[in-house]
Amino acid sequence: MTTAFVTCPLCEATCGLQVTMDGDAISTVRGDDSDVFSHGYICPKGASLKALHEDPDRLRRPMVKRGGTWHETTWDDAFAEIDARLPRLIAEHGPNSVALYLGNPSSHNVGALLYGRVLYKAIGTQNMYTAGTVDQIPKHFSSGYLFGDPLTIPIPDLDRTEHLLLLGANPLISNGSLMTAPDVGERLTGIRRRGGKIVVVDPRRTRTADAADEHHPIRPGTDALLLFALVQVIFAEDRVALGRLVGHVTGLDELPALCAPFTPEAVAPVTGIEADTIRRMARELASAKRAAVYARIGTTTQAFGTLASWLVDVLNVITGNLDRDGGAMFPLAAAGQANAAPGRRRGFVHGRWHSRVRGLPEVMGELPVATLADEILTPGDGQVRALITVGGNPCLSTPNAARLTDAVEQLDFMVSLDVYLNETSRHADVILPGPEPLARDHYDLVFYQLAVRNVANWSPALVATDMPQEWQTLLRLAGVVTGQGWNADVAAIDDFVAAEAARRAGLDVAAAGQRRGPARLIELMLRAGPYELTLADLEAAPHGVDLGPLQPRIPDVLATASGTIELVPDAITADIPRLVAALGHGVGDELVLIGRRQLSSNNSWMHNLAPLVRGANRCTAQIHPDDAARLGLVDGGRALVRTRAGAITVPVEITDTVRPGVVSIPHGWGHDADGARTGVAAAHAGVNSNLLADDQLLDGLTGTAALNGIPIEVVPA
Ligand code: SF4
Repeated sequence: MTTAFVTCPLCEATCGLQVTMDGDAISTVRGDDSDVFSHGYICPKGASLKALHEDPDRLRRPMVKRGGTWHETTWDDAFAEIDARLPRLIAEHGPNSVALYLGNPSSHNVGALLYGRVLYKAIGTQNMYTAGTVDQIPKHFSSGYLFGDPLTIPIPDLDRTEHLLLLGANPLISNGSLMTAPDVGERLTGIRRRGGKIVVVDPRRTRTADAADEHHPIRPGTDALLLFALVQVIFAEDRVALGRLVGHVTGLDELPALCAPFTPEAVAPVTGIEADTIRRMARELASAKRAAVYARIGTTTQAFGTLASWLVDVLNVITGNLDRDGGAMFPLAAAGQANAAPGRRRGFVHGRWHSRVRGLPEVMGELPVATLADEILTPGDGQVRALITVGGNPCLSTPNAARLTDAVEQLDFMVSLDVYLNETSRHADVILPGPEPLARDHYDLVFYQLAVRNVANWSPALVATDMPQEWQTLLRLAGVVTGQGWNADVAAIDDFVAAEAARRAGLDVAAAGQRRGPARLIELMLRAGPYELTLADLEAAPHGVDLGPLQPRIPDVLATASGTIELVPDAITADIPRLVAALGHGVGDELVLIGRRQLSSNNSWMHNLAPLVRGANRCTAQIHPDDAARLGLVDGGRALVRTRAGAITVPVEITDTVRPGVVSIPHGWGHDADGARTGVAAAHAGVNSNLLADDQLLDGLTGTAALNGIPIEVVPA
């Protein structure tokens, strides 16, 4: 029996785990009590790493489809197949004929993160898509324009704040998002223990709302109106106090005119929150000693996602809570954080190119995945003819999933890097599996940049594998698309990538010694980072290195052209007239759809693990008793739910935890597709709510899918 300590690679919380192995078998997975950040916390997903290790459906060998039939094959044969088809297609139709889609698990996989970008550059395509455009891109966009860099995102200083206003966020279930905070429950309890207050704005009375001091069940999609009204009250009552931000903010004078239409009385009939309540919320926020406003997926995946994301930080700024202890602060990670070095004044731009069919802008080099089907189905120059998916299941997890499924069937060629033959990879010609999470080195390159405390932890691979690592597979693909053939020299390409990384960091690549792959790149980033750590430092600290609480970082953290917080960027305020027009839409009898997070679920990809799907069917349509009575729905019966995009039949769950006018269905389910090989998931199939999500309903500025606030019709099935 051996025991090792690793960081859980499954979600943003970065919990430390204690894994006991019996030879090659995993015996137990527990929370690591000595982890400097998570102090022993673990959720059911972390414990299910054992089930993932043992899952017989997990692919162990490459698969090639020939004559419509899958064949398990060798790595050389799989790459020979790719080499025979992909370069020819690029030569004939250009690099934009290949689209790349990176799924959410890629952001938790340091190899895919670092080397997916190498493949993207090697192809040279503008058709890059990720799960970000069904998630958080509006926050990157607003942060980019406010602070100069899309990853300069203020994070609530949970451990010191005394007033937390949360919108569209359910961290007790999600375990935190754009806010790395293991054991968020204990941290929220700490706020109330300090005599502080937690206020939740959400159409559902979530577990986080239940644990809060106040819950305001807002009408979905109207958060920007509420946030603008809070800004309006703070200006109207002369409560603006920038604190230490004086001299670091431009554009403040323009805000009173911009927020003038959004009085509490004007937004109350649309948001469903009374004007007096809005005034009180604004006053309490402005007068709290230390406060933070934080909003997540309910606010970013809606029609005004970018405006809502922007207004969150406008509130943090005008109440003097940005960049101060107990407010919203900027982490300083040990490795890879673009804003770590002061003095960059490049600013942020988007729209450097646009999607071919609908003219949607790129943001951070990505196009909205809501238009991927258009790009595949619409003939013409630049039509997408091949798709490479990396750890993603877009046929289940992106809007108008049925249309995208039809589209991928039209592709000339498709490769999936995936551990399962799932609803998307079943359409591929070649599937290249990757090692299970515990069989690869792990470092949370992105999520330490979003953490409520500065920490660093390196986890070497724990489980032996004879499978190539994802980074090697991605480099081999990069070799294929650059004409180096099916057996390209992966080590040589890796040397080239590392030499480039070292040159940019001003280091000698030899500093990384014998390390290769992600370990070498992380070594270089640590050495170039603000703490000048080495990988050996982290290897000597299996429970992590605590780098202390967040510190004020303005002005050094700012990278706008002016070197200030540019509070009213034209790129964002351009969307305000559309929000003004929304003021006319009072609450009526119409029903709208929202999603919901579930503790034992991680989008679509963990539903094949028995410990996470046992118990009652969780894929239900939650509906308020008044709506159910009006529509003739009964608890446990079935409803037909219809939108412009599609229709599904789903079990009804009547509950007063959703506000009237709202139906909530979780996403990531619908595992009944022919040809997928995920036996446990198929036995708990559920239905795919993204058959309802509308690929035409987008955030106006970024093209991020509006997955909350979708108009629906519901009748008994
Ligand atoms: S909260 Fe996230 S990081 Fe922690 S154990 Fe669960 S899945 Fe892993």
